[in-house]
Amino acid sequence: MVFKCGSCGSCMIYDFNKNDLVCPSCDSVGNPKIEYDNKDDIDICPICGGQLNLGQYGSARKCNYCDSYVVSDTRLGGDNRPSAIIPTTITKKEVFSLLTEKFSNYICLIPEVFSENRLKEVIIEYVPYWVYAFNIKAAYAGNIKESVTTGNTTVTDTYSVTESWDLDMEEVPVDASEKMPDMVMDELEPFDFKAKLDFKPEYLSGSESEIYNHESDHYKEEACYKAADFAYEHMYGELNMAYPHAVNLSRNSVKNDTSLDIRTVSADYYLLPVYRYSYTFKNGNILDYYVNGQTKEIYGTAPISEKRLWTAIAATVTAFAGAAALISTILMLLGGAV
Ligand SMILES: [Zn+2]
Ligand SMILES: [Zn+2]
Repeated sequence: MVFKCGSCGSCMIYDFNKNDLVCPSCDSVGNPKIEYDNKDDIDICPICGGQLNLGQYGSARKCNYCDSYVVSDTRLGGDNRPSAIIPTTITKKEVFSLLTEKFSNYICLIPEVFSENRLKEVIIEYVPYWVYAFNIKAAYAGNIKESVTTGNTTVTDTYSVTESWDLDMEEVPVDASEKMPDMVMDELEPFDFKAKLDFKPEYLSGSESEIYNHESDHYKEEACYKAADFAYEHMYGELNMAYPHAVNLSRNSVKNDTSLDIRTVSADYYLLPVYRYSYTFKNGNILDYYVNGQTKEIYGTAPISEKRLWTAIAATVTAFAGAAALISTILMLLGGAV
């Protein structure tokens, strides 16, 4: 579907700060005129008939021919309808400000990388995630050695400890899109799930999105690993509190002496916001930037110009040589031996 402005016919964009669709041409808010998918071929733009190139999983994107933001109501129907979305309240302009600030201490930056005329290349992507809830029964059985030194005496005791925990773990997220590199998503997490909203298709107008690439079972093992890590960390913290003078407690020893029984309580499909921006150099090299659309966490390296860097190094070397020559001249004038 396409959300056209009721006043001027332009394509509207959802603005989570205004909680409504907004027209970028005439600033109208709300009252969209909705054009629906072509059910025979959802990869065809309902406005101009151009190919959308949604691919196997695409659910929202901009038409390359008429610039309409198309949200596929067909693809987002039934089981493919997300249960929730975490909105972004930051703008593309703020994304560039964040990136500029992040790299402000570097020398030899390429200023045009984050210049305003590139703002239209910044894309907000809603990434599909499976969000699991687990119940974990954890049983620890191990020997904990405590050592207490008072004055010159050290007393060491060893305790045979058995402990069990019943842990409810809600909202364990796993990225369900192959398009987004796992390494990037790991860097950008966590997201704050308190901000989630029930999904509505108009939220994606102005964004790109995908549906989950595989069912929740496919990602369950990865989710269990994450849940297990949380559980071990929790137990390590509690055992450390109970035995503050322990000398043989470590994350690894807790892991080795624990058995976990992990049960899936639920798996829900969410969309989480990530800004994406790429800068391509004349030689074809690409710099990729990603920003968490909620927490503003950044992934990417400083856009340093190698040419400028070498010029700066050469200038420093010349200046240094010049300064060294000057110092030796002064020392000679003062009669010092150099
Ligand atoms: Zn308008
Ligand atoms: Zn079009």
